[in-house]
Order: sequence, then structure tokens, then C-alpha cells
Amino acid sequence: MAGIHLTEDEETVLKYVASFANNELKPLAGQIDREKKVPEKIIQRMRDLGLFAACIPKEYGGAGLSFSFLTRLIEELSSACPSTALVLDGALTLFADPVIMFGSEDLKKRYLPRVASGEIGGLALTEAGAGSDAASIRTSAEKKGDHYVLNGSKIFISNGRLARFFVVDAVTDPSMGHRGISTFVVDSDSEGFKISRDIDKMGIRGSSTVELVFENVKVPLNNLLGEENKGFRVVMETLDSGRIGIAAQALGIAQCALDEAIDYVKQRKQFNTRIADFQGIQFMIADMATKLEAARLLTYRAAEMWDRHEDSVRISSMAKLYASDVAMQITTDALQLFGGYGYTTDMNAERHMRDAKITQIYEGTNQIQRVIIARDILRDH
Ligand SMILES: Cc1cc2nc3c(=O)[nH]c(=O)nc-3n(C[C@H](O)[C@H](O)[C@H](O)COP(=O)(O)OP(=O)(O)OC[C@H]3O[C@@H](n4cnc5c(N)ncnc54)[C@H](O)[C@@H]3O)c2cc1C
Repeated sequence: MAGIHLTEDEETVLKYVASFANNELKPLAGQIDREKKVPEKIIQRMRDLGLFAACIPKEYGGAGLSFSFLTRLIEELSSACPSTALVLDGALTLFADPVIMFGSEDLKKRYLPRVASGEIGGLALTEAGAGSDAASIRTSAEKKGDHYVLNGSKIFISNGRLARFFVVDAVTDPSMGHRGISTFVVDSDSEGFKISRDIDKMGIRGSSTVELVFENVKVPLNNLLGEENKGFRVVMETLDSGRIGIAAQALGIAQCALDEAIDYVKQRKQFNTRIADFQGIQFMIADMATKLEAARLLTYRAAEMWDRHEDSVRISSMAKLYASDVAMQITTDALQLFGGYGYTTDMNAERHMRDAKITQIYEGTNQIQRVIIARDILRDH
């Protein structure tokens, strides 16, 4: 299996994570899907294991581990329960990372230790009229005295019910298009901040997805993340690394589906033969494993490039695009290998297929990843 460069300490932590994922989390994945909630005791276990501190710098109470480690962490958790993995992924890649990259010293000191100790964050960018075209958001932020006042709404916001704070994008200069967008850190207990709806979903059903409303929400001037009117860059760079997290989530889902399918074909008999002995089945397994390995290589390369501060826009989009497409193919083929049983809710195969689908959609659909990759190639050629 493809390797990724980790320190000895990171390898050791990862062994604990794998044990937690296999022994404690995986047995609950079906329940989490049915009950549409990650149990608080699981989130607390992740806190106790120090997972929220992973990539927070040491000076802000974190463990200072690499993005490569975070990638493996998300992959391991996703192989057990992708909804649970998303709680951590949202807190770290969507909330903490932009604060680390663009936050003032004051913002870092106020928020990063809280994330490290397990308070959850999220990113609120998407609006009903602004999905792929994120530059067309309408939520407004007007400067009034020592505050900005936010008005508008956001849709499909992950960690919605769990998060204590969000990175939020809003328009500060409507005449400037994407050059008039600013990014803020907004506390979810602010007056006028409301969850207007929980959104029911096909997969990752344990993840809380909500619609948010901002009604005259006062945000202190020093909660501006980066410079005024330069918030679009903040969110685009956030998504560059965030996409590697989604690729890792896709790898975990695909690995779990493949492992369970392999176990099944080795014990299921038809025509007095193990179905694993049919060449048609063997070729499917070979193709699934090969695609997964290629996706893993691409994802690990993207994570390592991010750690080395190399330009990784293209590679992170490639990793997200390929790993998520492969996850969808592998989970579909895995279900096929279970025959009629795979189509029932008695088996996990249908859940893996439902969970895989979102990885082709969020943090930029795969059509948008192709737009990003092609633009980058054509610019450099
Ligand atoms: C479960 C879930 C969790 C999410 N979590 C978050 C979150 O935490 N924070 C957040 O801000 N957002 C979140 N999102 C939003 C997600 O990122 C958007 O749904 C996604 O970017 C697509 O936007 P859209 O749904 O408006 O689709 P649209 O942009 O309307 O796209 C519709 C279709 O048109 C295609 N399309 C659009 N433009 C082009 C183009 N230029 N070329 C070719 N095809 C194109 C798309 O690929 C898609 O197939 C989440 C979404 C879901 C479903």
C-alpha cells in the first residue's frame, strides 16, 4: 500500500487512531447513519485522544502535526464512519486552517486553543443562489462603529448543530464582485445567528447539515479574517487544503467497501464454488484495488506537497476529483459483489455507496475540480 511520510510520533498516534476507529467507531457506523447523529461520547473520545489538536501549532495549544498526518487521520476515521470524520475534518481543515493561514495573532490566540481542546468549528460559504459560483454570495457585512453587521443566509453548512464558531464569507463591497468579499470568524451564540433548518440527506447522515440565517449579527472588527475585501482568497486557499481532506475521506470509504466485499466473495458460494474463484469477480477486485491505490498515491502526494508549501492547487483538485470518482466506482462495484444482499439495508454496502456520493459534490463539485485543473494547466503551458 502507498506510504506517506510521517514522523515516528505521528505513526504511533495513528496506531491508536486505527484501534479507536476499528474497535469503537466502526461498530457504531450503522447506528450513526440511522439515528443521524454522531454520539457525544464518540466526539468526547476524539477529544480525549487529542485528535482536535492534531495540526494546530504547538504555540496555540496544539500538537503541531503535519497535514500528511491529518490526511491519514481522516482516512482512518472515514474507513470506520465518514460522518464522524467530517466533524473533525470540518473543525480542522475548514475552520482552523484558514485561521492558521490568515488570522491575526489575536484571532489565533482566541480561537485555536479552543479548537485544540475539542470545540468544533465550520465554514459557511455556500448560499441558495451561490454554490459553484461562490463569488456571487449575497450575505452582507456592513461596517458600523466597532462592528460589522451581517445579514443573509447560508445553506448546506456542515457541523451546523455542533459548531461553536464558523468562518463566514460576506460581501463588504457589492460593487467589486469577488474583490468585495471578506471573511469573518463568527460565534454561533451571537445574537441574531440562527439555524433555520436541518437538512436531511442521502449519505453521511450522521453529519449535521443546516441552513443558517444572520439577522443583524454583530461581529467585532477584530474578527475579520485576513484583509477586508480579500476574503475570497482566504476561502479559495482554505478549499485547496480542504479538498485533500475530502480525498482522504473518499479513500477511507472506498477501502472499507472493498475490504468488506473481499471478505464476502471469499465466503459466498454459488455453483458449488466460492465466487472469489470466478475470474470475473477477481478482475473486479483487481480493478477496484488498483484504482484505490492510484487515488491514494495522488492524495498522499497532494498532502506532502501541501506540507512542503509547494503550489498544490492543481494536485489537490486532482486528488479530490480522482479519489471521489474512484470511491463512487468502488462502492458501486462492492455493492454488486454482494448481489441482492448488497441492495438491502441489512448490509453496509448501500451505506458506503450513499456516503461516497457526497465526496463528488462538496468542496467544489467534480466538474468544478476539472475547471480548476484545466485552468491551471492551460495557464502554465
Ligand atoms: C452534505 C453537504 C455538506 C456541505 N457542507 C458545506 C459546508 O460545510 N460549507 C459550505 O459552505 N458549503 C457546504 N456544502 C455546499 C457544497 O460545497 C455545494 O453544494 C457545492 O459546491 C455545489 O454547489 P450547488 O449545490 O449550489 O450546485 P450548483 O453550483 O448549482 O451546481 C449544479 C450542477 O451544475 C454543475 N456546474 C456548475 N457550474 C459549472 C461549470 N462552470 N461547469 C460545469 N458544470 C458546472 C455542478 O457541477 C453541478 O453538477 C455542502 C453540501 C452538501 C450537500
